[in-house]
Amino acid sequence: MKKLVSVIAPMYNEEKMVHVYCEETIKVLSQLSDRYDFELVLVNDGSKDNTYPIMLSEQAEHSDIVTTVCLSRNFGLEGAVNAGLRKAAGDAVVVMDADLQDPPSLIPEMIAKWEQGADVVVGSRVSRRSDSFFKKSTAGLYYGIMNSYSGRLKLEKNAANFRLLSRKAVDQILAMPEVNQVFRVSVPFVGMKTEVIEYDRDKRYAGKTKYGLRSMISYALDSITGISVEPLRKISVFLPVTLLMFIGSIVGIFLAPPEWTAACVVIMTACLLTGFILVSLAVMAEYIAQIMIEAKGRPTSVIYEYEPCRNVKERQ
Ligand code: UDP
Ligand code: MG
Repeated sequence: MKKLVSVIAPMYNEEKMVHVYCEETIKVLSQLSDRYDFELVLVNDGSKDNTYPIMLSEQAEHSDIVTTVCLSRNFGLEGAVNAGLRKAAGDAVVVMDADLQDPPSLIPEMIAKWEQGADVVVGSRVSRRSDSFFKKSTAGLYYGIMNSYSGRLKLEKNAANFRLLSRKAVDQILAMPEVNQVFRVSVPFVGMKTEVIEYDRDKRYAGKTKYGLRSMISYALDSITGISVEPLRKISVFLPVTLLMFIGSIVGIFLAPPEWTAACVVIMTACLLTGFILVSLAVMAEYIAQIMIEAKGRPTSVIYEYEPCRNVKERQ
C-alpha cells in the first residue's frame, strides 16, 4: 500500500480561496500520485461566509482526496491546526495556510526530505517582499524577542506554519497536554531531525488577512509565555534600579535647595516606581492567565463535523 500524506489547510472566511487552493494543491499532488496517496484536510474554523458549503462541494468533486473538518465555532488558527492534526491520518502531515502564501509547489521537496529521514521539514521565508512595512517590522520584533527567550530551543527565523511533520512528530505534538499551543513553538520543542527549505512568500491570492494588530499582540503574548518564563525572572532587574532611585530621591530631598525641586524628585520617583510595579504586575498577570487557561484543561477546539476522504476510509 502507498504511503499516505495529509495536507492540512485551516480556513476562516476563505470563500474566495477554497476552490483555487484545492485546484492548485491537487494539481501539484497529482504529480506524485503514482507513489503516494494524499488527503487534503480542509478545516473550517467557524467561518461566517460560504467557506464550508464550498468545502463540501470540493469534497463531492474530489471525494478520494478531500477530507472536511468543521469546528463548532471560530477557535483561531492554532485551534484549527490542532483539529487538523488530530484528524489527519497521514504517515506524514503538511500544514499550510489556505491563501497560497505557502506555495503547494514546495510539497514534493518536503516529501523528498522526509523520505531522506527528516521528521520535520520547515519552510522558511527568505523574502517578505509581498508583506507590508507594518508586517515586516512586527515580524522582525516578534522573531527578535522570541529568539532572545528561546534558550535551548532552536527557532527557525521567518518560519511560520508551513511545515511537514512525520507521524512520530505529529503524535508527539498531540501528546502534549497544553491547551494554548503555538504550533511554531511546539514543533521545535519536540526536536527530531529537522530540515529547512527556503522559499519566497507570495502575496495572499484573494481575501483579507485575519491578523490585525490586536490578534498579533495576543499571538505574540501566547508565544512568549509559551516558550519561556524568562520575563518573570527579568522582573527582578527592577529591584536594584528602584533601590538606586530611592537613594537618589532621598539625596535629592536633602541637597536640593528650593522646596519645589525636592517635591519634583519625589513625584518623579513615585511615578517611575508605580510604572515598574505596573509592568511587573502585567507580566505576572499574563502568566497567571496562561495558568488559568491550562488549569481548565479545555480542548483547543471542538470538532462538530468530520468526513474523511476515500483514501482514508479505504485504510480504516
Ligand atoms: N485562519 C484560521 N482561523 C483564524 C484566522 C486565520 O483558520 O481565526 C487561517 C486563515 O484562513 C489562513 C491562515 O489561518 O488559512 C493564515 O491566516 P492569514 O492569511 O490571515 O494570516 P497572515 O498570512 O496574514 O499572517
Ligand atoms: Mg496569509
